[in-house]
Amino acid sequence: MNKQIELFLKLVKIYSPVGNEKPVIDFLIQWLKKRKIKFDIDKRGNIFFGFYKNTEPILFSAHVDTVKSPLGKINPIVNNQFIKAGKNKILGADNKASLSALLTLVDWYLEEKSEKSIEVLLTAGEEDGSDLVNFQFSKIKSKLGFVFDSIAPIGTIILASPFIINFEINFFGKASHSSKPELGVNVFLRGIDFLKKFPPKIYKKYGLIFNIGLIKGGQGVNIVPDRLTIKGEIRSLKKDKFFEKIDSLKKYLIDTQDKLIFSGFCPGYFHKKNDIIITKLKKILKRLGVKSRFEKSFVVSDANELNDKGIKVINLGDGVCNAHTDKEKISIKDLERIFEISKEIVLNF
Ligand SMILES: [Zn+2]
Repeated sequence: MNKQIELFLKLVKIYSPVGNEKPVIDFLIQWLKKRKIKFDIDKRGNIFFGFYKNTEPILFSAHVDTVKSPLGKINPIVNNQFIKAGKNKILGADNKASLSALLTLVDWYLEEKSEKSIEVLLTAGEEDGSDLVNFQFSKIKSKLGFVFDSIAPIGTIILASPFIINFEINFFGKASHSSKPELGVNVFLRGIDFLKKFPPKIYKKYGLIFNIGLIKGGQGVNIVPDRLTIKGEIRSLKKDKFFEKIDSLKKYLIDTQDKLIFSGFCPGYFHKKNDIIITKLKKILKRLGVKSRFEKSFVVSDANELNDKGIKVINLGDGVCNAHTDKEKISIKDLERIFEISKEIVLNF
């Protein structure tokens, strides 16, 4: 078994669900110290370092947290060229597949005494979006970057990722005893009106998904309810349609006493298929015998924040199958291919 695969197995054994990344961060600090690599670490646990030569730097990034596994600690099983975790356990190949490839890339880079400039960002808290909230982006000098954090076959190039925002609406009515409904205002009627006007729906033409995820209200069967909360999210691949939907929510509630609260904004991005970076990437994949495929994804990653900060970051398929479930698995071949693609990027960009 090669070093990268051994490292991957070691990394998934270090259980580091989102919010509890310390064990893997401690491992990474030791790993970096052993190689005498100078690095920055911020309060959230994001690790950043770079090697600067005479070329424009290229950023590589991976997240060190995973989703929570129902039974905790992972003991990976290697079977038939695939690695998985077993019943009620989630392997955490998202994103440790990429993390193992990236650390292997750093070792290769040092052994090779490469003359290229690279930067590495290892984030903590990607799964709940808390990782880059207070990150100092001015540390990053790269204008171009790559992450492998799309649950898709190796060779997948993500061309678009959505803008997302969560909303919460608190509707107010007036409570009364059910025997005297004329004294109250049943807030559910307002809720029904709202849901008719804003049903959960996919607007295919606009690349927009409007979801209602939570409805809560009422006090009892014999009380006219005065409180109703509806929560949901808007995600869209089109910036104008995204903001139009936000405006229509605001407008709907404008002359009411109901309260609308937005949170968790995530910026979207879009890459052109004929972008020179994408063309170059396609050539690299072809040379490695990997078929490139394009996807407009409704899922977000660190690439969203990084693109928003002016760094053109391409998100690529990580080869993970059935991610975030106990059927999650990855092939040894795909793990190695993440490293191979990254190495070719360093050599050719
Ligand atoms: Zn991920």
